[in-house]
Amino acid sequence: MRHRLSAGGTASTLDKLNRPLRDLRLSVIDRCNFRCTYCMPRGTFGADYAFLPSSERLSFTQIVKLAEAFASLGVEKIRITGGEPLLRRGLESLIEQLAKLTTEGGKPMELALTTNGSLLAAKARSLRDAGLGRVTVSLDALDAAVFRRISDVDMHVSQILDGIEAARAVGLGPIKVNAVIERGVNEDQILPLVRLFRNTGVAVRFIEYMDVGGAGEWSNKKVVTARETRHIVESEYPLIPIVVHEQRGTAVNYRHADGSGEVGFIASVSQPFCGSCSRARVSADGKFYSCLFATHGTDLGPWLTDTASVEQLATAIRSRWIDRDDHYSELRSTQHRSGSGKVYPTVRMSLVGG
Ligand code: SAM
Ligand code: SF4
Ligand code: SF4
Repeated sequence: MRHRLSAGGTASTLDKLNRPLRDLRLSVIDRCNFRCTYCMPRGTFGADYAFLPSSERLSFTQIVKLAEAFASLGVEKIRITGGEPLLRRGLESLIEQLAKLTTEGGKPMELALTTNGSLLAAKARSLRDAGLGRVTVSLDALDAAVFRRISDVDMHVSQILDGIEAARAVGLGPIKVNAVIERGVNEDQILPLVRLFRNTGVAVRFIEYMDVGGAGEWSNKKVVTARETRHIVESEYPLIPIVVHEQRGTAVNYRHADGSGEVGFIASVSQPFCGSCSRARVSADGKFYSCLFATHGTDLGPWLTDTASVEQLATAIRSRWIDRDDHYSELRSTQHRSGSGKVYPTVRMSLVGG
């Protein structure tokens, strides 16, 4: 088995493309109270859609066991996601248990959450008290009508802004706001978003519209590239690139020249970052996915029983990771320069976690 020494001096497991396992995205629920057109369009995810019954969701005990196994394999950061994770009842008690974990190198596990923000105002304090480190809120528009059109929910955008403010008020980590930009839909929201969050400590990050499972209407013509988005931001706010030695996250970050904050760009379509992708995903029903665009997952169920140990679970995960050679976004960019539509059908994002 191939190993390499990480900065902390501990051995890490490498996949077939020499990528270590560093990040875990844990989907705790596949349901959502929004129907974002690019993720869970109502036409597909309607009233009769068969979501996972709660009996098929992993229990908190199983999730903690999973997290322990991933930590033993080099995972340093866990992001709780979904669906909408704040819909999972009692989430704070799971966070409390995950917050006690340490990495292989003995550091506290980084614990983050991605949410649509609709329930954040009510939960910010209890999430912080439970030990959540940081929160990312998805918000694609400030204009109430554009927000409603994208999220396809009868809610005022001020509810999300209240959630962000509540998270800030309780000191819930450095807050990020993620905005997916789709051509002809919300390019006009780029500058208002940047404007609103300057001088607040909240970093806005713009994500290219991806052909995730669920985004049936995707076409590469609808992708506003990170470069285009940056030019729009720079038309009003000069930016200075933040130089990093090693690209670990998905965003390329800039700071405002006048010191009023940071803006990030996630070029998942125009400049894929598969080469440094260290993310594993586990769905709410305990399937391991080695890529956001995987076609199927490995069922970890047999190792999530009382009779299997954390070590046995870790061995099963490791054997799947060392076999990993996913690089869908790179394939997309070579196969779809001018065409449209997905390269091949993939698992829905609300199940596998964004
Ligand atoms: N419901 C939570 C939320 O929206 O933050 C967490 C799950 S959601 C699937 C995670 C992230 O995936 C969100 O930031 C969302 O904007 C992003 N996402 C979903 N569909 C996408 C798409 N087609 N292209 C780019 N990002 C997408
Ligand atoms: Fe729900 Fe998040 Fe998907 Fe929107 S992006 S439908 S909020 S899971
Ligand atoms: Fe990682 Fe798959 Fe996305 Fe490439 S396409 S960056 S391998 S999740």
